[in-house]
Amino acid sequence: MLHDSIHRKITYLRISVTDRCNLRCVYCLPKQGVVKLERREILSYEELLRLVRIGVELGLTKIRITGGEPLIRDGITSLIRAVSAVPGIQDLALTTNGTLLKELAKDLAGAGLHRVNVSLDTLEPGKYKLITRGGNLDQVLEGIGAAKEAGLHPVKVNMVVIRGVNDTEAGDFLRFAKEYETEVRFIEFMPYFHNEHFWGWDKVVPRDEIWKNLDADKHLVPRLQTLLTGPSTLYTFKDGQGSIGFIAPLSRRFCDRCNRLRLTADGALLGCLFGSGGVDIKTPLRRGADDNFLKNMFIQAAGKKPHRHHISKITTPLPSMGRSMSCIGG
Ligand code: SAM
Repeated sequence: MLHDSIHRKITYLRISVTDRCNLRCVYCLPKQGVVKLERREILSYEELLRLVRIGVELGLTKIRITGGEPLIRDGITSLIRAVSAVPGIQDLALTTNGTLLKELAKDLAGAGLHRVNVSLDTLEPGKYKLITRGGNLDQVLEGIGAAKEAGLHPVKVNMVVIRGVNDTEAGDFLRFAKEYETEVRFIEFMPYFHNEHFWGWDKVVPRDEIWKNLDADKHLVPRLQTLLTGPSTLYTFKDGQGSIGFIAPLSRRFCDRCNRLRLTADGALLGCLFGSGGVDIKTPLRRGADDNFLKNMFIQAAGKKPHRHHISKITTPLPSMGRSMSCIGG
């Protein structure tokens, strides 16, 4: 079993399968100037699968495929099929911007994917185009519908709340959750490498402020938390289907409950989205290391997992981290 240095049990691996994205959200990446990884730097599906098998032997039970935009990587369905066949995985999820879900949802479900999280920060078509630098809101809404139809249950919607950009839409998302009988999760806007052009404390809307603006006491009741609910605190509606979650890494740190490692597109295992420490597992993997050696790399990565992040204290994003959210996998 994998444990870190403060006895947190590690059961969850998030895998970024590509640093590329077909959108370019203003709060995530600058318009230009992001150096893309060379193809040979990105882990192949065979390499990913081997690491998944090894991780599962160490006790991982939950895998999330993310990116970049995972659905633009060729053959993603075949990766899902292969990962879903690894005995011991109880939860296989994927995070996507939803633009390609309409075409792929059925195949993904058929390949063994359990569920999807769709990132959607506005319900206004013009604003969606602006935030994503060119995206089409209808594609995403149709994608959400297709995912539900394909049985990728539950479909969760992630909204990053940014003051002056979409904070006035929280109420619309609340109604969306009810109407679409889905789970909407409000996420605090985090500082990150490559969003230093956009992030500032003035743009962060803390969880309690979102709660107050929603008049949430009136509408919501707490829902039982399970390990599968992850870092969000969850609520159901007093009168209706759907649910609401809050992910508040800045105002309500959840590091004590963190059970995850991250495998970056370029083959590093990281203990924290905000930590600089990690291990390069790609080099030994490509030099022919045996399974025991690679298992040991997982153990080392877990051992290096920071006790907590310190982003609540920072004033500017962290250029020293050197990897974008899309390479690490947001
Ligand atoms: N392309 C996929 C998608 O759009 O879901 C996966 C990658 S994206 C980087 C993963 C998630 O990270 C998205 O929900 C996005 O909104 C979120 N994200 C990106 N930058 C963020 C930030 N600075 N603070 C909070 N969430 C962020």
